[in-house]
Amino acid sequence: MDVSFVQEKNGLPLGKLNYVMAAITLVISALLIFATYRTSNGYERVNEATANYISWEQSASSIQDATDYLTEQARNFVMTGERKYLQNYFLEVNVTRRRESAMAKLKGAGSPEAYEKLEDAMRQSQAQMSLEWYAMRLTISAYGYNPSEFPVELQSTTLLSKDAKLSRTEKQARAQQMVLDSTYLEKKAAIDEDLRAYLTSLEEGTREQQERASDDMRSLLETQRLLVFALIMIFIIVIMMNSFLVINPLMKGILHIRTEQPIPISGSYEFQYLARTYNLMYAANQKKANALAYEASHDKLTGLYNRVEYDELIKSPDMLSSALLLIDVDKFKSVNDTFGHDMGDRVLVHISKVLRESFRSDDMICRIGGDEFATIMVNCGPQFTDLIRGKIERINTKLQNPTDDLPPISVSVGVAFGAEEHGTGNIIKDADLALYQVKEHGRCGVAFFEPSLVNIALPEKKKKD
Ligand code: GH3
Ligand code: MG
Repeated sequence: MDVSFVQEKNGLPLGKLNYVMAAITLVISALLIFATYRTSNGYERVNEATANYISWEQSASSIQDATDYLTEQARNFVMTGERKYLQNYFLEVNVTRRRESAMAKLKGAGSPEAYEKLEDAMRQSQAQMSLEWYAMRLTISAYGYNPSEFPVELQSTTLLSKDAKLSRTEKQARAQQMVLDSTYLEKKAAIDEDLRAYLTSLEEGTREQQERASDDMRSLLETQRLLVFALIMIFIIVIMMNSFLVINPLMKGILHIRTEQPIPISGSYEFQYLARTYNLMYAANQKKANALAYEASHDKLTGLYNRVEYDELIKSPDMLSSALLLIDVDKFKSVNDTFGHDMGDRVLVHISKVLRESFRSDDMICRIGGDEFATIMVNCGPQFTDLIRGKIERINTKLQNPTDDLPPISVSVGVAFGAEEHGTGNIIKDADLALYQVKEHGRCGVAFFEPSLVNIALPEKKKKD
């Protein structure tokens, strides 16, 4: 069956909608994955900034510690003259070198201005070392040690002539004054201040970095929330789409199919297409079924109810309030014999037309045999006897005076009423007995069943019916 003509572009196309939803979901999911990736990057940036700050802070502290250590060892030597302090001092200067390795680690850390402060602190520390070396040289001289037994730095430090001339005690006092007086302490404080300034600047830079990364992460998390919300919305839309475009129309459709009705055109484009196709097939089947039902219950020649339908109608309980008219054409054989079978058929059609015109539309007119008809007049009792008689007379008048080339003809009619008090309980037999009376008494007329007819013997042919 060709149903291409019903492909109207109505309803939302579910197939395309599915593709669109899948594409949107993919894009949102990709954005979500990208956003989580960026968030973890931000988190790593915060971690890295914190780790860097901790390492820089340790390096800066180790410069401070090394400087303090040198001061302590220099002071101890100057105060006690014990060589081990001097050895410790130069071990730090030439071997451990904490300040130098910290400077290497801090290279490029922080802003250029801050780094300048660090370099300044190192320069000042170096200058202070020259002062310490001079104080140590004075102490060596004060203790009368041989300078060649000491590191080259001290050997190359020469005492000013005014200091060389000082007494041993004066030299000691002068050396102690050099590493303890306010000038020395001020220089040390200046180094501390430079280092603190450097550390403060590093801390600020780190905090700025952390804040920037936190802001980025906050807006990324906001974006992720929105994307998750969008995914939830899509999920809800898909559920609603399924419900409104597929499930609801489907359930309605099933109900209509079960109650043998056409499916309402609703839902998605695909479902509407299915419903239209089904409805088309349903209408075609219905038409076929109607035609078959009509053929099964109607007479082909006259269009009246046929024998099968008559047999059903006569069983109805409505018969108790109805009248049955058995109508037989008089001498019909002779019509066939004289004018031919075709003319006989035309006469039968003509009779059916006259019968139709003569009864109410509620009355049921049947062709129950070759030239036998029956009319069931509903809601009809003996009070209508005269009316029925009048009808039959008019029918016979019409049949005997045909307007075209049809031969004149007449009918005999036997009538029985369904109500029990008016018959034997077998309405067909009662009507048949009445009809027999008409046939026996000259035909072309009507007779009504009377109880006295019961004893009359019907001819063999009638009995078989
Ligand atoms: P009566 O008055 O006693 O009824 O006489 P009758 O000649 O009508 O006798 P009967 O009713 O027994 O005969 C009916 C005839 O109808 C017999 C048959 O040849 C004819 N007949 C039956 N069916 C058809 C039909 O479909 N077309 C035609 N043309 N004739 C039919
Ligand atoms: Mg007949």
